[in-house]
Amino acid sequence: MKRLLVKSSFQKALDRPLFAANYLKGKVRANLGYKLGRGYALLPGRVFFALTGRCNLRCQMCPQTNHPSFRQEIVRKGEADIKGLQKMIDDISPFRPILMVSGGELFLHPSWFDFLSYIKAKGLYCSIGTNGTFLERDASELVRIGVDEISVSIDGPESIHDEIRGLPGTYAAILRGIQHLKEEKKKGIGKPRVTIIFTISSLNFQYLPEMVEQMEALRVDTLRISHLNFLDQKDFDNHMHLFKGLFGIEQDTSWKGFVSDLHHINANPLAETIETLRSRRNGNLRITFFPDFQKEEIIQYYSHGPFYSKSFKNACLAPWDMAIVGPGGELILCPNYVIGNLCEQGFREIWNNEKARFFRKILLKMKSFPVCSRGCCFFYV
Ligand code: SF4
Ligand code: SF4
Repeated sequence: MKRLLVKSSFQKALDRPLFAANYLKGKVRANLGYKLGRGYALLPGRVFFALTGRCNLRCQMCPQTNHPSFRQEIVRKGEADIKGLQKMIDDISPFRPILMVSGGELFLHPSWFDFLSYIKAKGLYCSIGTNGTFLERDASELVRIGVDEISVSIDGPESIHDEIRGLPGTYAAILRGIQHLKEEKKKGIGKPRVTIIFTISSLNFQYLPEMVEQMEALRVDTLRISHLNFLDQKDFDNHMHLFKGLFGIEQDTSWKGFVSDLHHINANPLAETIETLRSRRNGNLRITFFPDFQKEEIIQYYSHGPFYSKSFKNACLAPWDMAIVGPGGELILCPNYVIGNLCEQGFREIWNNEKARFFRKILLKMKSFPVCSRGCCFFYV
């Protein structure tokens, strides 16, 4: 069971017993299915809900901003209502997955409060991801619901963050929201944990040390430094050509927006900075890296040519390990590859259907596709 646990997740697991138990169970099931299932998978340890495709921001590094037809397509398909969402939770709660809820911006969904409340009423571990602009308004509800973890994206010190977001005042709004959340937490049971996600790009990598200082001062639980997902045109073209041949899929609703120049980073100083941060032990701030690449890997990651990690197995287990649910209830095994709709069928009917098994068998043979190693965050989870 090589790489049963990635390091950052192991650390997370030590902090949170419910998360740890479900995470470990999911990893064991994923690895068993991968090795023995011949295309079948045991029930997944994690379910990721993209609750809405809508967002109030237009960030420079967002694939949805770079690929407007992607955003239009998911918005056109519509969003599941609270009845549909509750049905999905009824379906999946018996196997106790970890739930991750995000968007677009999840607080734009009219039923976000009822949905998160329903998840917590079922006793499931629930983590949410947000751009933080509605946090000041919604912090007290999040504490009241008992959401376990919240990840907020901040991509640099104030001026850099606001420039990337394309909207002045977003950084200040997030800080006010986090402050409000901390005050509300004191009245509750100490949840949610707060993680700040900093995504590296050519627009902000120079500001990483400054960012760390500011997050230390903010006294959040964790700063997660995340490498950029990106593609070059050749990988995109090769991937689309391959998916057309293997699966008959010609329409891209996922990848085009990852083709950009934002990976043009001077990787040597970046790798040095990350080494320095890694060796530093901060009293009140945990710093994690995703993926947790070593120095030479970081340099290769941001260089031309193929990328193979020495720290990871270079094979995707995601379709055995996690389910992705789109805004309209689509059950997605891999971006662009939908295997059914949870508003219309039960989870167990879809999860191992013919389409799902066909995909897994091919992935078992190929281990990865052209977009995986740099374009997809699921490759290293
Ligand atoms: S907040 Fe997230 S979804 Fe919205 S534009 Fe920015 S990166 Fe994209
Ligand atoms: S890593 Fe590759 S195979 Fe796995 S989900 Fe992402 S794109 Fe699909």
